[in-house]
Amino acid sequence: MNIHEFQAKKILAKYGVSIPKGKEAYSSSEAAAVALEIGGKKWVVKAQIHAGGRGKAGGVKIADSVEEVTKISNKLLGMQLITHQTGPEGKKVNKIFIEEGINILSELYLGIVLDRSNEKYVMMGSTEGGTEIEVVAEKTPKKIFKVQIDPLIGMQAYQARQLVFKLGLSKAVSNKAVTFMLALAKTVEETDASLVEINPLVITDNNNVLALDAKMNFDDNALYRHKDIESLRDEDEEDPRELEAAKHDLNYISLDGNIGCMVNGAGLAMATMDIIKLEGGAPANFLDVGGGATKERVEQAFKIILSDEKVKAVLINIFGGIMRCDVIAEGVVSAAKNIEINIPLIVRLAGTNVEKGKDILNNSGLDIISADSLGDAAKKVVSSIREA
Ligand code: GDP
Ligand code: MN
Repeated sequence: MNIHEFQAKKILAKYGVSIPKGKEAYSSSEAAAVALEIGGKKWVVKAQIHAGGRGKAGGVKIADSVEEVTKISNKLLGMQLITHQTGPEGKKVNKIFIEEGINILSELYLGIVLDRSNEKYVMMGSTEGGTEIEVVAEKTPKKIFKVQIDPLIGMQAYQARQLVFKLGLSKAVSNKAVTFMLALAKTVEETDASLVEINPLVITDNNNVLALDAKMNFDDNALYRHKDIESLRDEDEEDPRELEAAKHDLNYISLDGNIGCMVNGAGLAMATMDIIKLEGGAPANFLDVGGGATKERVEQAFKIILSDEKVKAVLINIFGGIMRCDVIAEGVVSAAKNIEINIPLIVRLAGTNVEKGKDILNNSGLDIISADSLGDAAKKVVSSIREA
Protein backbone atom coordinates (compact mmCIF):
# COMPACT_ATOMS: atom_id res chain seq x y z
CA MET A 1 0.00 0.00 0.00
CA ASN A 2 1.12 3.51 -0.85
CA ILE A 3 0.55 6.62 1.25
CA HIS A 4 0.99 10.37 0.70
CA GLU A 5 4.09 12.39 1.58
CA PHE A 6 2.32 14.23 4.43
CA GLN A 7 1.16 10.93 5.93
CA ALA A 8 4.64 9.39 5.63
CA LYS A 9 6.18 12.42 7.33
CA LYS A 10 3.79 12.09 10.28
CA ILE A 11 4.84 8.47 10.75
CA LEU A 12 8.53 9.33 10.39
CA ALA A 13 8.25 12.13 12.97
CA LYS A 14 6.75 9.67 15.46
CA TYR A 15 9.96 7.63 15.27
CA GLY A 16 12.22 10.65 15.64
CA VAL A 17 13.09 11.34 12.00
CA SER A 18 13.42 15.12 11.59
CA ILE A 19 11.09 16.80 9.11
CA PRO A 20 10.27 20.44 8.30
CA LYS A 21 7.23 22.08 9.91
CA GLY A 22 4.16 21.48 7.77
CA LYS A 23 0.52 20.48 7.47
CA GLU A 24 -1.86 19.25 4.81
CA ALA A 25 -4.70 21.38 3.39
CA TYR A 26 -7.76 20.75 1.23
CA SER A 27 -8.57 24.31 0.18
CA SER A 28 -6.63 27.50 -0.49
CA SER A 29 -8.06 29.25 2.58
CA GLU A 30 -6.99 26.32 4.71
CA ALA A 31 -3.55 26.50 3.07
CA ALA A 32 -3.22 30.20 3.98
CA ALA A 33 -4.19 29.44 7.58
CA VAL A 34 -1.57 26.68 7.72
CA ALA A 35 1.08 29.07 6.36
CA LEU A 36 0.26 31.62 9.09
CA GLU A 37 0.37 28.89 11.72
CA ILE A 38 3.79 27.70 10.54
CA GLY A 39 5.11 31.26 10.41
CA GLY A 40 8.28 32.45 8.70
CA LYS A 41 8.69 34.22 5.36
CA LYS A 42 8.89 31.40 2.87
CA TRP A 43 6.72 28.33 2.28
CA VAL A 44 6.61 25.39 -0.06
CA VAL A 45 3.28 24.22 -1.49
CA LYS A 46 3.34 20.59 -2.61
CA ALA A 47 0.74 18.59 -4.53
CA GLN A 48 -0.11 15.34 -2.73
CA ILE A 49 -0.49 12.52 -5.22
CA HIS A 50 0.82 8.97 -5.17
CA ALA A 51 3.61 9.70 -7.66
CA GLY A 52 7.05 11.26 -7.68
CA GLY A 53 8.57 13.73 -10.11
CA ARG A 54 6.20 16.46 -8.91
CA GLY A 55 8.96 19.09 -8.71
CA LYS A 56 9.79 18.94 -12.42
CA ALA A 57 6.10 18.77 -13.35
CA GLY A 58 5.17 21.96 -11.49
CA GLY A 59 3.64 20.27 -8.44
CA VAL A 60 6.09 21.78 -5.93
CA LYS A 61 6.15 25.60 -5.67
CA ILE A 62 7.87 28.09 -3.39
CA ALA A 63 5.82 31.02 -2.05
CA ASP A 64 7.21 34.24 -0.52
CA SER A 65 3.96 35.47 0.99
CA VAL A 66 0.71 34.08 2.35
CA GLU A 67 -1.09 35.59 -0.67
CA GLU A 68 1.18 33.57 -2.89
CA VAL A 69 0.44 30.42 -0.89
CA THR A 70 -3.25 31.05 -1.61
CA LYS A 71 -2.60 31.69 -5.29
CA ILE A 72 -0.48 28.58 -5.79
CA SER A 73 -2.92 26.44 -3.80
CA ASN A 74 -5.79 27.58 -6.01
CA LYS A 75 -3.79 26.58 -9.03
CA LEU A 76 -2.69 23.18 -7.74
CA LEU A 77 -5.98 22.02 -6.20
CA GLY A 78 -8.12 20.28 -8.79
CA MET A 79 -5.42 20.24 -11.46
CA GLN A 80 -4.46 17.09 -13.33
CA LEU A 81 -0.74 16.72 -12.56
CA ILE A 82 1.28 14.80 -15.12
CA THR A 83 4.68 13.54 -13.97
CA HIS A 84 6.92 10.83 -15.42
CA GLN A 85 5.38 8.44 -12.87
CA THR A 86 1.67 9.15 -13.42
CA GLY A 87 1.24 8.09 -17.03
CA PRO A 88 -0.09 10.48 -19.70
CA GLU A 89 -3.50 10.92 -18.03
CA GLY A 90 -1.91 12.36 -14.87
CA LYS A 91 -3.41 12.39 -11.39
CA LYS A 92 -5.93 14.81 -9.93
CA VAL A 93 -4.65 16.89 -7.02
CA ASN A 94 -7.17 16.76 -4.15
CA LYS A 95 -4.85 17.71 -1.31
CA ILE A 96 -1.79 19.85 -0.84
CA PHE A 97 0.93 20.06 1.78
CA ILE A 98 2.26 23.37 3.09
CA GLU A 99 5.75 23.39 4.59
CA GLU A 100 8.17 25.95 5.93
CA GLY A 101 10.67 26.98 3.24
CA ILE A 102 14.08 25.45 3.84
CA ASN A 103 17.44 26.92 2.82
CA ILE A 104 19.20 23.95 1.32
CA LEU A 105 22.97 23.48 1.49
CA SER A 106 23.02 20.05 -0.15
CA GLU A 107 20.57 17.37 -1.29
CA LEU A 108 21.22 13.66 -0.68
CA TYR A 109 19.33 10.45 -1.22
CA LEU A 110 18.53 7.99 1.56
CA GLY A 111 16.28 4.96 1.22
CA ILE A 112 15.54 1.57 2.70
CA VAL A 113 14.15 -1.31 0.67
CA LEU A 114 13.64 -4.97 1.27
CA ASP A 115 16.39 -6.90 -0.49
CA ARG A 116 14.59 -10.15 -1.15
CA SER A 117 17.64 -12.09 -2.32
CA ASN A 118 19.44 -11.34 0.97
CA GLU A 119 16.26 -11.51 3.06
CA LYS A 120 17.24 -8.24 4.70
CA TYR A 121 16.45 -4.57 4.59
CA VAL A 122 19.15 -2.57 2.88
CA MET A 123 19.78 1.13 3.46
CA MET A 124 21.04 3.03 0.44
CA GLY A 125 22.61 6.44 0.53
CA SER A 126 23.89 8.68 -2.23
CA THR A 127 25.18 12.20 -2.63
CA GLU A 128 23.15 12.38 -5.84
CA GLY A 129 19.95 13.51 -4.11
CA GLY A 130 17.01 15.30 -5.66
CA THR A 131 17.52 13.47 -8.95
CA GLU A 132 16.03 10.19 -10.08
CA ILE A 133 17.86 7.51 -8.15
CA GLU A 134 17.04 4.95 -10.87
CA VAL A 135 19.22 6.95 -13.28
CA VAL A 136 22.07 7.11 -10.74
CA ALA A 137 21.78 3.34 -10.20
CA GLU A 138 22.01 2.70 -13.92
CA LYS A 139 24.69 5.20 -14.95
CA THR A 140 26.86 5.60 -11.84
CA PRO A 141 26.10 2.71 -9.48
CA LYS A 142 29.34 3.43 -7.53
CA LYS A 143 27.68 6.58 -6.22
CA ILE A 144 25.20 4.51 -4.21
CA PHE A 145 26.42 3.15 -0.87
CA LYS A 146 24.61 0.22 0.74
CA VAL A 147 24.30 -1.08 4.27
CA GLN A 148 22.63 -4.38 5.06
CA ILE A 149 20.45 -4.37 8.16
CA ASP A 150 20.53 -7.50 10.30
CA PRO A 151 16.91 -8.41 11.07
CA LEU A 152 17.82 -9.73 14.54
CA ILE A 153 19.71 -6.73 15.91
CA GLY A 154 18.55 -3.89 13.65
CA MET A 155 20.73 -1.17 12.19
CA GLN A 156 23.81 -0.44 14.32
CA ALA A 157 25.26 3.01 15.03
CA TYR A 158 28.64 2.02 13.55
CA GLN A 159 26.91 1.17 10.25
CA ALA A 160 25.29 4.60 10.18
CA ARG A 161 28.65 6.25 10.94
CA GLN A 162 30.27 4.34 8.07
CA LEU A 163 27.56 5.50 5.69
CA VAL A 164 27.88 9.10 6.90
CA PHE A 165 31.62 8.89 6.25
CA LYS A 166 31.13 7.51 2.72
CA LEU A 167 28.65 10.29 1.95
CA GLY A 168 31.34 12.77 2.98
CA LEU A 169 29.14 14.65 5.44
CA SER A 170 30.76 17.36 7.54
CA LYS A 171 31.52 16.89 11.23
CA ALA A 172 28.92 19.53 12.08
CA VAL A 173 26.08 17.31 10.84
CA SER A 174 27.43 13.77 11.29
CA ASN A 175 25.77 13.04 14.64
CA LYS A 176 22.44 14.33 13.38
CA ALA A 177 22.78 12.22 10.24
CA VAL A 178 23.50 9.09 12.33
CA THR A 179 20.42 9.75 14.48
CA PHE A 180 18.38 10.30 11.32
CA MET A 181 19.49 7.00 9.76
CA LEU A 182 18.86 4.95 12.90
CA ALA A 183 15.39 6.49 13.30
CA LEU A 184 14.61 5.76 9.65
CA ALA A 185 15.63 2.12 10.08
CA LYS A 186 13.47 1.82 13.20
CA THR A 187 10.46 3.27 11.34
CA VAL A 188 10.74 0.69 8.58
CA GLU A 189 11.17 -2.22 10.97
CA GLU A 190 8.28 -1.32 13.22
CA THR A 191 5.78 -0.43 10.50
CA ASP A 192 6.53 -3.39 8.17
CA ALA A 193 7.28 -0.94 5.38
CA SER A 194 8.57 -2.44 2.16
CA LEU A 195 10.15 0.82 1.10
CA VAL A 196 10.98 4.25 2.46
CA GLU A 197 12.61 6.87 0.31
CA ILE A 198 13.90 10.27 1.40
CA ASN A 199 14.75 12.11 -1.80
CA PRO A 200 16.03 14.60 -1.06
CA LEU A 201 17.45 14.33 2.42
CA VAL A 202 18.80 17.84 2.94
CA ILE A 203 21.51 19.53 4.92
CA THR A 204 20.27 23.03 5.73
CA ASP A 205 22.27 26.27 5.98
CA ASN A 206 22.05 26.00 9.79
CA ASN A 207 23.35 22.42 9.79
CA ASN A 208 20.11 20.55 10.23
CA VAL A 209 19.42 17.19 8.62
CA LEU A 210 15.85 17.02 7.32
CA ALA A 211 13.60 14.77 5.23
CA LEU A 212 12.41 17.19 2.55
CA ASP A 213 10.46 14.51 0.72
CA ALA A 214 9.18 11.13 1.92
CA LYS A 215 7.73 8.12 0.18
CA MET A 216 6.59 4.99 1.99
CA ASN A 217 5.17 1.67 0.82
CA PHE A 218 3.83 -1.03 3.10
CA ASP A 219 3.55 -4.77 2.85
CA ASP A 220 -0.17 -5.46 2.32
CA ASN A 221 0.16 -8.80 4.08
CA ALA A 222 1.26 -7.06 7.29
CA LEU A 223 -1.46 -4.38 7.32
CA TYR A 224 -3.67 -6.47 9.59
CA ARG A 225 -1.33 -5.58 12.45
CA HIS A 226 -1.16 -1.88 11.55
CA LYS A 227 -4.76 -0.67 11.52
CA ASP A 228 -3.60 2.92 11.93
CA ILE A 229 -1.57 2.66 8.73
CA GLU A 230 -4.31 0.83 6.85
CA SER A 231 -6.67 3.72 7.66
CA LEU A 232 -4.38 6.02 5.64
CA ARG A 233 -5.41 4.32 2.40
CA ASP A 234 -6.58 6.92 -0.12
CA GLU A 235 -9.10 5.33 -2.46
CA ASP A 236 -8.88 8.35 -4.82
CA GLU A 237 -5.38 7.15 -5.67
CA GLU A 238 -6.21 3.53 -6.34
CA ASP A 239 -7.28 1.80 -9.51
CA PRO A 240 -11.12 1.79 -9.46
CA ARG A 241 -11.24 -1.69 -11.01
CA GLU A 242 -8.87 -3.09 -8.39
CA LEU A 243 -11.03 -1.58 -5.64
CA GLU A 244 -14.17 -3.07 -7.16
CA ALA A 245 -12.46 -6.47 -7.51
CA ALA A 246 -11.30 -6.41 -3.89
CA LYS A 247 -14.93 -5.91 -2.80
CA HIS A 248 -15.80 -9.21 -4.50
CA ASP A 249 -12.75 -11.07 -3.20
CA LEU A 250 -11.21 -11.30 -6.66
CA ASN A 251 -7.46 -11.26 -7.18
CA TYR A 252 -7.30 -8.62 -9.90
CA ILE A 253 -4.34 -6.45 -10.94
CA SER A 254 -4.55 -3.86 -13.74
CA LEU A 255 -1.85 -4.06 -16.40
CA ASP A 256 -1.00 -2.00 -19.48
CA GLY A 257 -1.99 -4.35 -22.32
CA ASN A 258 -5.26 -4.85 -24.23
CA ILE A 259 -6.16 -8.52 -23.67
CA GLY A 260 -8.57 -9.05 -20.79
CA CYS A 261 -7.86 -12.34 -18.99
CA MET A 262 -10.26 -14.40 -16.91
CA VAL A 263 -8.45 -17.35 -15.41
CA ASN A 264 -8.76 -19.58 -12.36
CA GLY A 265 -5.70 -20.21 -10.23
CA ALA A 266 -2.74 -17.87 -9.81
CA GLY A 267 -0.34 -20.26 -11.53
CA LEU A 268 -2.55 -20.69 -14.57
CA ALA A 269 -3.15 -16.93 -14.67
CA MET A 270 0.60 -16.28 -14.76
CA ALA A 271 1.14 -18.97 -17.39
CA THR A 272 -1.66 -17.42 -19.47
CA MET A 273 -0.02 -14.00 -19.33
CA ASP A 274 3.36 -15.52 -20.28
CA ILE A 275 1.92 -17.30 -23.29
CA ILE A 276 0.03 -14.19 -24.45
CA LYS A 277 3.38 -12.34 -24.30
CA LEU A 278 5.10 -15.16 -26.16
CA GLU A 279 2.56 -14.76 -28.98
CA GLY A 280 3.34 -11.04 -29.10
CA GLY A 281 0.27 -9.80 -27.20
CA ALA A 282 -0.07 -7.95 -23.91
CA PRO A 283 -2.46 -8.74 -21.02
CA ALA A 284 -4.70 -5.94 -19.67
CA ASN A 285 -4.96 -7.59 -16.30
CA PHE A 286 -4.09 -10.45 -14.03
CA LEU A 287 -7.19 -12.13 -12.67
CA ASP A 288 -7.56 -15.23 -10.58
CA VAL A 289 -11.27 -15.85 -9.98
CA GLY A 290 -10.31 -18.47 -7.41
CA GLY A 291 -11.18 -22.08 -6.89
CA GLY A 292 -14.64 -21.87 -5.33
CA ALA A 293 -15.99 -18.90 -7.29
CA THR A 294 -19.76 -18.61 -7.62
CA LYS A 295 -21.63 -17.61 -10.76
CA GLU A 296 -22.09 -14.13 -9.25
CA ARG A 297 -18.37 -13.67 -8.69
CA VAL A 298 -17.57 -14.79 -12.22
CA GLU A 299 -20.18 -12.31 -13.47
CA GLN A 300 -18.57 -9.47 -11.46
CA ALA A 301 -15.13 -10.43 -12.72
CA PHE A 302 -16.29 -10.41 -16.33
CA LYS A 303 -17.94 -7.00 -15.87
CA ILE A 304 -14.74 -5.56 -14.37
CA ILE A 305 -12.72 -6.81 -17.35
CA LEU A 306 -15.20 -5.36 -19.85
CA SER A 307 -15.36 -2.00 -18.02
CA ASP A 308 -11.73 -1.41 -19.05
CA GLU A 309 -11.79 0.53 -22.31
CA LYS A 310 -8.24 -0.63 -23.08
CA VAL A 311 -9.53 -4.19 -23.48
CA LYS A 312 -9.83 -5.14 -27.16
CA ALA A 313 -10.36 -8.92 -26.70
CA VAL A 314 -11.04 -11.26 -23.81
CA LEU A 315 -9.46 -14.61 -23.14
CA ILE A 316 -11.24 -16.96 -20.76
CA ASN A 317 -8.94 -19.76 -19.75
CA ILE A 318 -10.38 -22.18 -17.22
CA PHE A 319 -9.07 -25.45 -15.96
CA GLY A 320 -11.96 -26.93 -14.02
CA GLY A 321 -10.61 -28.66 -10.97
CA ILE A 322 -12.48 -27.39 -7.95
CA MET A 323 -13.94 -24.71 -10.20
CA ARG A 324 -16.59 -26.14 -12.51
CA CYS A 325 -16.65 -25.10 -16.17
CA ASP A 326 -20.47 -24.75 -16.18
CA VAL A 327 -20.33 -22.22 -13.31
CA ILE A 328 -17.87 -20.13 -15.28
CA ALA A 329 -20.04 -20.36 -18.39
CA GLU A 330 -23.15 -19.33 -16.45
CA GLY A 331 -21.34 -16.32 -14.96
CA VAL A 332 -20.13 -15.19 -18.37
CA VAL A 333 -23.55 -15.59 -20.00
CA SER A 334 -25.27 -13.80 -17.16
CA ALA A 335 -22.83 -10.86 -17.35
CA ALA A 336 -23.21 -10.74 -21.13
CA LYS A 337 -27.00 -10.35 -20.79
CA ASN A 338 -26.57 -6.86 -19.39
CA ILE A 339 -23.59 -5.66 -21.40
CA GLU A 340 -23.19 -5.52 -25.12
CA ILE A 341 -19.96 -7.31 -26.04
CA ASN A 342 -18.49 -6.09 -29.29
CA ILE A 343 -14.97 -7.42 -28.90
CA PRO A 344 -13.72 -10.94 -29.64
CA LEU A 345 -14.24 -13.49 -26.88
CA ILE A 346 -11.92 -16.48 -26.88
CA VAL A 347 -12.74 -19.36 -24.57
CA ARG A 348 -10.70 -22.35 -23.57
CA LEU A 349 -12.35 -24.69 -21.09
CA ALA A 350 -10.97 -27.96 -19.75
CA GLY A 351 -11.70 -30.21 -16.80
CA THR A 352 -14.77 -30.70 -14.60
CA ASN A 353 -18.10 -30.31 -16.45
CA VAL A 354 -16.38 -29.09 -19.59
CA GLU A 355 -19.13 -30.36 -21.92
CA LYS A 356 -21.83 -28.73 -19.83
CA GLY A 357 -19.90 -25.46 -19.87
CA LYS A 358 -19.42 -25.57 -23.63
CA ASP A 359 -23.14 -26.28 -24.14
CA ILE A 360 -24.14 -23.28 -22.05
CA LEU A 361 -21.82 -21.00 -24.04
CA ASN A 362 -22.84 -22.46 -27.43
CA ASN A 363 -26.55 -22.00 -26.67
CA SER A 364 -26.12 -18.49 -25.30
CA GLY A 365 -26.07 -16.73 -28.65
CA LEU A 366 -22.71 -15.19 -27.74
CA ASP A 367 -20.18 -14.89 -30.51
CA ILE A 368 -17.42 -17.10 -29.14
CA ILE A 369 -14.15 -18.29 -30.61
CA SER A 370 -13.34 -21.54 -28.90
CA ALA A 371 -9.85 -22.91 -28.43
CA ASP A 372 -8.74 -26.34 -27.36
CA SER A 373 -5.42 -25.61 -25.69
CA LEU A 374 -3.75 -22.71 -23.94
CA GLY A 375 -1.32 -22.21 -26.83
CA ASP A 376 -4.17 -22.23 -29.34
CA ALA A 377 -6.17 -19.77 -27.21
CA ALA A 378 -3.26 -17.33 -26.96
CA LYS A 379 -2.66 -17.49 -30.73
CA LYS A 380 -6.36 -16.87 -31.44
CA VAL A 381 -6.72 -13.94 -29.04
CA VAL A 382 -3.59 -12.20 -30.36
CA SER A 383 -4.60 -12.69 -34.01
CA SER A 384 -8.18 -11.52 -33.30
CA ILE A 385 -6.75 -8.19 -32.18
CA ARG A 386 -4.43 -7.95 -35.19
CA GLU A 387 -7.37 -8.52 -37.53
CA ALA A 388 -9.52 -5.88 -35.81
P1 GDP B 1 9.26 15.22 -6.12
O1 GDP B 1 9.72 16.00 -7.30
O2 GDP B 1 7.89 14.65 -6.32
O3 GDP B 1 10.25 14.17 -5.73
O4 GDP B 1 9.11 16.27 -4.91
P2 GDP B 1 10.17 16.77 -3.80
O5 GDP B 1 9.48 16.83 -2.51
O6 GDP B 1 11.42 15.94 -3.83
O7 GDP B 1 10.51 18.25 -4.26
C1 GDP B 1 11.21 18.52 -5.44
C2 GDP B 1 12.32 19.55 -5.22
O8 GDP B 1 11.77 20.77 -4.72
C3 GDP B 1 13.34 19.17 -4.17
O9 GDP B 1 14.35 18.31 -4.70
C4 GDP B 1 13.91 20.50 -3.78
O10 GDP B 1 14.97 20.89 -4.64
C5 GDP B 1 12.74 21.46 -3.97
N1 GDP B 1 12.20 21.85 -2.65
C6 GDP B 1 11.25 21.21 -1.93
N2 GDP B 1 11.06 21.82 -0.74
C7 GDP B 1 11.92 22.88 -0.70
C8 GDP B 1 12.23 23.91 0.27
O11 GDP B 1 11.69 23.97 1.37
N3 GDP B 1 13.18 24.82 -0.09
C9 GDP B 1 13.81 24.79 -1.30
N4 GDP B 1 14.73 25.71 -1.58
N5 GDP B 1 13.57 23.84 -2.21
C10 GDP B 1 12.64 22.90 -1.93
MN1 MN C 1 11.49 13.77 -4.23
